[in-house]
Amino acid sequence: MAAKPFASSADLGEKEQTLEVLADGVYALTAQGDPNIGAIEGEDFLVCFEALATPTAAREWLARLREHTDKPVRYLVLSHYHAVRVLGASAFGADVIVAHEKTRGLIAERGEADWASEFGRMPRLAKDPDSVPGLTWPTMTLSDRASIELGGDRGRLELRYLGRGHTEGDIVAWLPQQRILFAGDLVEAEAALYTGDAFHYDWAGSTLDGVAALRAEALVGGRGPVTRGREAVDAAVAQTRDFLRTMIVEVGAVHARGGTLKEAFAAAHAALVDGYGHWPIFEHCLPFDVSRLWDELSGTERPVVWTAERDREVWDRLQS
Ligand SMILES: [Zn+2]
Repeated sequence: MAAKPFASSADLGEKEQTLEVLADGVYALTAQGDPNIGAIEGEDFLVCFEALATPTAAREWLARLREHTDKPVRYLVLSHYHAVRVLGASAFGADVIVAHEKTRGLIAERGEADWASEFGRMPRLAKDPDSVPGLTWPTMTLSDRASIELGGDRGRLELRYLGRGHTEGDIVAWLPQQRILFAGDLVEAEAALYTGDAFHYDWAGSTLDGVAALRAEALVGGRGPVTRGREAVDAAVAQTRDFLRTMIVEVGAVHARGGTLKEAFAAAHAALVDGYGHWPIFEHCLPFDVSRLWDELSGTERPVVWTAERDREVWDRLQS
């Protein structure tokens, strides 16, 4: 068998972007499995959710958003620290950049390494990489929840931390009046999960319980199409949980019997490929996912920092 190209390095085709108006003043941009983004209008300001990988990429999104509203961006909310979601922040001209307090620490600890790692894995997303002025720093952090009054009859936007999941510091943005949830990478709809920086047990348990308990009527996940309707939202959460639980069962069994990481990868791949193998970035993510879960099972509490070098080592060990 020919070696697989590293991560998504050979996946360079443009994805089609779709802007959807989910309710009055509530927008989502999806991109066929590439990272989703959103925006919520207040009476005289905008809240943007996620910032894309570079200012150049973010400006393209903002140009589309500006066809609907010219309100200034007061808040830019970052669901977590990953480079392809935060490094476009400078394009927004936001007054306040909001993230979880742990996200701030993760940017300080591993932001530089993650930047190199992610741009190497997914060069397509790193549109005009020289336009990134440096790391993105939150100017306001929260530990549990925060609320933004939108004004008029628009209700409020709640930012909530639901526990460790895709990273140590994911937050979701919830519109209780419209019942719309921006879930970040805690939920993926018809896209493979990236769990290389995850806490699989917390995520598959209490954190997804917290997502489900909101009983959203529409959900914008980290990747994939917008999910509409109670049944579809529950199905997206269930599918995310199933992916995690399948990994836990398969990788856990190999770990428990004293097998190797490579055997664990083969077992997880075999169990997931029929249901999830056709989804975007499945082959890309799985080596990093299994590697992190293996560490978690081995008692490594916090995810090991991914560097461009470590990415290649793990890839060569598992995918070739
Ligand atoms: Zn992420």
